[in-house]
Amino acid sequence: MAKKLDQIIVVDVEATCWEGEPPPGEENEIIEIGVCALDVATGQRLDKQSILVRPERSQVSEFCTKLTTLTQAEVETGIAFSEACDILKKQYKSKNRVWASYGDYDRREFTQQCQAHHVEYSFGPTHINVKNLLALAHGLREEVGMAKALALLNLPLEGVHHRAGDDAWNIARILAELLLKLRGIK
Ligand code: AMP
Ligand code: MG
Repeated sequence: MAKKLDQIIVVDVEATCWEGEPPPGEENEIIEIGVCALDVATGQRLDKQSILVRPERSQVSEFCTKLTTLTQAEVETGIAFSEACDILKKQYKSKNRVWASYGDYDRREFTQQCQAHHVEYSFGPTHINVKNLLALAHGLREEVGMAKALALLNLPLEGVHHRAGDDAWNIARILAELLLKLRGIK
C-alpha cells in the first residue's frame, strides 16, 4: 500500500524506569502509548488516546510513579503490548503513514520491544524526530525538551507532562506549528 500523507501519527511512550539501572531480572518496558493523529492539511489535532500496556518483565517503581503518575495497579489494567500494536496498525494505519515523536527515544523503545516480544514493528519506515526538527528550524545550538519547546513557541503545556496521551497531544501541536510556518500559513 502506498504511503499516505493525510495524517501524521504522533506517538509518545512511557516506560518502566528506575533511578539507575533496572533491578536484576527486570528490563525497560512500555507501559503507556499516547497517540495523536495530526491532520496535515489543516494542522488540526484529530484525537488523543492513551493506551495502557501491562508490563510482563518489570514492575512500576516508586521512581516511575513519581515521574509519570502511573502505578503498578493502573498498568495492570492495561492490555498486552501486541494488542496495543494491533490498535496502532488497525485504527491509525500506522504502517502506511508517517509517524512522529519527540526525540529518538520512542522509536528506539518501539524497535527494541517489538524485537524482544516478537511482535511485528508497528510503523512504516518514515519517522519525524520533532525535537530535532524544531531545533534545526529555529537555529538552536542544541535540542531542547518538550516543555522548553512549547515555551519557545508561546504554546501552553496542556495536560500532565510525562503522561503519554498528553505528551503526544502537545508534541502534535509543536509539529503543526512547524509545518504551517514552513508552508507560510502562519
Ligand atoms: P517522557 O516522554 O519524557 O515522559 O519520557 C518517556 C520515558 O522515559 C519515561 O516513561 C521514563 O521511562 C523515561 N524517563 C524520562 N525521564 C526520565 C528520568 N529523568 N529518569 C529516568 N527515566 C526517565
Ligand atoms: Mg512522555
